[in-house]
Amino acid sequence: MSVAESILAGPLTEQREALDRGELSASELLEACLARIADRASLGAVFSLRESAAREEAAAADRRLAEGKPTSSLDGIPVLLKDNIVQAGEPAGCASRILEGYVSPFDAAVTERLRAAGAIVVGRTNMDEFAMGSSTESGVSGPCHNPWDATRACGGSSGGSAAAVAAGLVPLALGSDTGGSIRQPASFCGVVGLKPTYGRVSRWGLVAFASSLDQIGPFTRSVADAAIALETIAGHDPRDSTSLPEPVPRFRDALDGEVRGLTIGLPREYFDADGVDPGVLSRVREAIAVLEEAGARFVDVSLPHTRYTIATYYLVATAEASSNLARFDGVRYGRRAEDANDIADLYERSRSEGFGAEVKRRILLGTYVLSAGYYDAYYGKAQRVRTLIRRDFEAAFQDCDLILTPTSPETAFALGAKSDDPLAMYLSDVYTVSANLAGLPGLSLPCGLADGLPVGLQLLGRPLDEATILRVGDAFERRTRHHLVRPGEGG
Ligand code: GLN
Repeated sequence: MSVAESILAGPLTEQREALDRGELSASELLEACLARIADRASLGAVFSLRESAAREEAAAADRRLAEGKPTSSLDGIPVLLKDNIVQAGEPAGCASRILEGYVSPFDAAVTERLRAAGAIVVGRTNMDEFAMGSSTESGVSGPCHNPWDATRACGGSSGGSAAAVAAGLVPLALGSDTGGSIRQPASFCGVVGLKPTYGRVSRWGLVAFASSLDQIGPFTRSVADAAIALETIAGHDPRDSTSLPEPVPRFRDALDGEVRGLTIGLPREYFDADGVDPGVLSRVREAIAVLEEAGARFVDVSLPHTRYTIATYYLVATAEASSNLARFDGVRYGRRAEDANDIADLYERSRSEGFGAEVKRRILLGTYVLSAGYYDAYYGKAQRVRTLIRRDFEAAFQDCDLILTPTSPETAFALGAKSDDPLAMYLSDVYTVSANLAGLPGLSLPCGLADGLPVGLQLLGRPLDEATILRVGDAFERRTRHHLVRPGEGG
């Protein structure tokens, strides 16, 4: 392995040091990154690259470095973005046929912020169509394979970004999390994934799935890297009416390795549940022991409405999706059906040909639950239960500073295993959806392997308190080596 290759395989904090010390240039780092992406093309993680623009940007970063004036901690660092986060002049397809040929005329807010920080946006990653799914198998270009075992799913819907970070293609990739789509693939791929508080990161330029749940966040190889990424992408944006005005702390200042004085809640409904893989439970219990030994106090808490979370999520998310996806009509964006008889026929054909099965299923369900005769029975009721779920967390946070759970009840399942069973796929997010319904920040980090596959530990915080979950995650990393274990090259 060359110097650039071995530095590329590490966390971005090490890449930063190497760049600052002049051990390698941003251009060398980018070349190693492009070579690695080509080398691991069979994973199916990356959709497209903007090689020549990225090369020019790396050269500009090198000029800043030569003057000793890097813009930020991300200056010269290569990153990949999920295919639902737009980049000016680049395709944005959401892994859907319906957006074939669409090129974004503008940058998403997070893309702007990354560029302003000097990061090199290298390309777009694979995902489930319109971010609907838990396996990254439903996109137009086929599945993304798990770098730990190519016969397994990498999780979803942001699976391409998770796999890219796990396989050493880039140290940072962004995804979006509506019900678990950052945390669950992070868990399956053995990397760190962070879903910020709702409103912390602007959704301007994120193709909307369920607007009251969607949030953009980073995938990284360490918690410290996630703290740096969040500092960069977070902050108020008047173009997103749900963006919060609160100032963004320097999250890395919270990473002092200490957990003494913190109380961590263990929700009994998450640990008593049937169907949790015993290997997952063992790794999570070992993680609890590590944090206890470090001085954290653990208490049992209850989230009594946990059993309604999946049902509530699939009513709220599909309702919002049916409305958001109405804009894809074959006229304004992307692909248009040919030979239509009239405008109604054009809409019908474009949408029938353009959307895949899961997206259609959700549009139908969402339209149904919003229809006049059923609104109160389904959507109205789901909104009321959503309030009860949020109150469960408010009550639990009276007794603890953060909550710890497994991220997913299982490790990476086989590709195709759940493709014909939507309900089984939906249950994959049983531990993650509640944070979206309640708007809370959630972090998934590696806590070991079960049968050779990564297990994720989830930390949930109070609204706007990303600092505490990052601090505890980092304290855990300082006492363990799980985040350093990388997949072999066989996958
Ligand atoms: N798997 C969930 C779904 O299919 C969550 C997706 C997401 O977070 N984008 O809706």
